[in-house]
Amino acid sequence: MGAASSFPRQILSQRRTRLVGMLRTPINRELARRLPDVVGAATARHLAKLGLHTLDDLLRHVPRRYVASGQMTSFAGLTVGMDVAVIARVRSAEVRQGGRARVEAIIEDADGHTLTVTLFVPSAKGGVPRRGVAEYWLRQLAPGATGIFVGRVRRFRDRLQLTHPDYVILDGARIAARKSDSVKARSQAAMARLAQGPTMIGMYPATAQFPTWLVAETIQMLLPTITGDTLPGWILELAEQPSLTAALHDVHEPRHLEHAEAGIERLRFDEAFGIQLAMAHRRATLASEEATPRVPPRGGLLDALDATLPFVLTQQQRREGQTIAAELARSTPMHRLLQGEVGSGKTVVALRAMCAVVDAGGQAVLVAPTELLAKQHHSSFMRLLGELGRGRTLDQPKGTHVTLLTGSLSAGERRAALERIATGEAGIIVGTHALFSDPVEFFDLGLVVIDEQHRFGVEQRAALTKKAARKPHMLVMTATPIPRSIAMTIFGDLSVSELRQLPAGRKEVKTVAVSTMHQRQWVSRAWERIREECAAGRQAFVVCPAISPDEAQVDEADQPRRLASVERTAAFLKNGPLADLRVGVVHGRQPSAERDETMAAFTAGELDVLVATTVIEVGVDVPNATVMVVLDADRFGISQLHQLRGRVGRGAHAGLCLLLAPIDDPEGKAWQRLKAVEGSHDGFALAEADLAIRKEGDVLGVGQSGASSLRILRIADVDLILQAKELAERVLDDPRAAEDPLLADLLDKAAEMAAGEWLEKG
Ligand code: ADP
Ligand code: MG
Repeated sequence: MGAASSFPRQILSQRRTRLVGMLRTPINRELARRLPDVVGAATARHLAKLGLHTLDDLLRHVPRRYVASGQMTSFAGLTVGMDVAVIARVRSAEVRQGGRARVEAIIEDADGHTLTVTLFVPSAKGGVPRRGVAEYWLRQLAPGATGIFVGRVRRFRDRLQLTHPDYVILDGARIAARKSDSVKARSQAAMARLAQGPTMIGMYPATAQFPTWLVAETIQMLLPTITGDTLPGWILELAEQPSLTAALHDVHEPRHLEHAEAGIERLRFDEAFGIQLAMAHRRATLASEEATPRVPPRGGLLDALDATLPFVLTQQQRREGQTIAAELARSTPMHRLLQGEVGSGKTVVALRAMCAVVDAGGQAVLVAPTELLAKQHHSSFMRLLGELGRGRTLDQPKGTHVTLLTGSLSAGERRAALERIATGEAGIIVGTHALFSDPVEFFDLGLVVIDEQHRFGVEQRAALTKKAARKPHMLVMTATPIPRSIAMTIFGDLSVSELRQLPAGRKEVKTVAVSTMHQRQWVSRAWERIREECAAGRQAFVVCPAISPDEAQVDEADQPRRLASVERTAAFLKNGPLADLRVGVVHGRQPSAERDETMAAFTAGELDVLVATTVIEVGVDVPNATVMVVLDADRFGISQLHQLRGRVGRGAHAGLCLLLAPIDDPEGKAWQRLKAVEGSHDGFALAEADLAIRKEGDVLGVGQSGASSLRILRIADVDLILQAKELAERVLDDPRAAEDPLLADLLDKAAEMAAGEWLEKG
């Protein structure tokens, strides 16, 4: 690892957090300025609502789309679907009553081509159109007036029209004279100016209080203040990217759409490069860490386990097992993600790795996100290991103690467990967060396996690994597959193993998406199916998005929507369609004892139906459960639904999953998501579909976790990400990097990012 000790890499691993004031270069100090100092407190408050806090944030706020400015637009070239700003003269305007009351104006361009502008008149209480509004519009759209109209061209009865365009009447004197501070006035003035400008107009994500026109104007005002670049020239050259100033001008004031695209590409590159530097940092850090190689001798616990496995390992399980074994044998810590959906057989892969470490004299822990899952892992380990898991004895000289450590152990049990862990008598430890607490001392921790990794923060992970004198190897398991492109981007420091094939004999869960708007009868049919299954001795889940009925929820269009709740649904089912069945309830607000008790009763077959929230999403294993009805299924993500349905059909009988949702629009995203789940059982493919359908999620979805450095990079940018990755490696080994203050700033930011928790989030 000669490269790991070269100068820039060394800086990388030494730097930790840094203050903005310590930035070395004027350009970075300028870009880091807080917006209140740049644009004033009032405007900054509006921009903060858009997540924009620094000058850098603002300048990298990219338009969603562009419209051609008025001067460039002749009506002759208009086609349906175009976004335009047109400058035109009003030829006529009148109120139309047929159908919805509306004002219809005919506008014409310089060559006499015409276009219809339609404004629907809002209704007052009682549904009567508000005449005052119509009259106001007629006054504005007086024949002969010139205006700017911005909107999307549509076709209505063979004529092109703009419906509710943003418009402003150009009465130059009036606009100029109106010194009003009202947002509307300022916005209209900005719009008039922009629409008459020579460049295309960016339409930005904005708010009602601070419309796109004001965003555009604010940005354009600031563009000239930026000189210089955040990347050194030699890196720009290697990356074949334009300068920052050129890119910013092309993004915010393009003359052609292609220019805008090239500019945005540069900004995306900046993000990709920043991330990949952070990843390179992580890899460098890991490469400089030491771990104990764990090479199991033949004839130990692992071989004994393999000899007693009740099934044949799949090809993938064997192959990934070999990869893991090879990494455990190295003197740098393994850092690997094991992806595979529920039931793909990750547990046995992990257990085999743990046994190998025990054979090599070390200890291995498995950390689960909940007590329930820890217990399940513990018992499935015990099932697989049998007598081998009860400690080393004369009869079982290869054995080890499989120890459970959770928060609910009695003081005595806990003391005994801690002692076994400290003495090394316990080779395999299974637990929850309790493992992170201070008094846990390991004898020789060699491997940490983390189940459901995205539920753990990086600090917890760090807390666990700190306990080892040398770094333990790390295997992170996730049942929510992350597409490789994302895994590489977000988890660029982890290598990835995938288990895509399910063990033989696994049956697919038949899934049906149902629109309760169009197929009402299916709701009662769903309850009937549950009765049928339970009559045949099987069990069912009913999943709701809410716990109690008073949880305020809004739908995608911000309309209030009352979601199916566990409490109401259970009450309804008990008193109605499932009155003769034993119905239990679980959700996250119950005391965990109560929840565990109900789960245990369901597992034992003492309940027929479990009405639940997504608490049952992970790991619950009741082979006798065959039906799942998901209510308001559109409230769940694709991967989540896929995960949920994995709870049924795990035994001898086929599973059925009904996804019910009040969906009206068969073209809409909500319905597409449900149809995707109905149509595919490949968790990896579904994860990809999830990302493809989520438009905003088109942007790598880490926004909520405060990753302000990731704004516009998309899944589709895999090539760019790859290019940035190669370049990051190359740059770090380039002698020019050592003296470059710009790169030093970048590396600082990368180190800060690498330390950030957001990198852990899926
Ligand atoms: P995961 O942890 O990925 O959800 P598990 O490891 O719990 O999946 O496996 C699910 C079930 O499949 C378990 O009962 C396990 O014993 C069984 N299993 C694992 N591997 C195989 C295999 N190769 N052939 C048959 N059954 C298997
Ligand atoms: Mg599992």
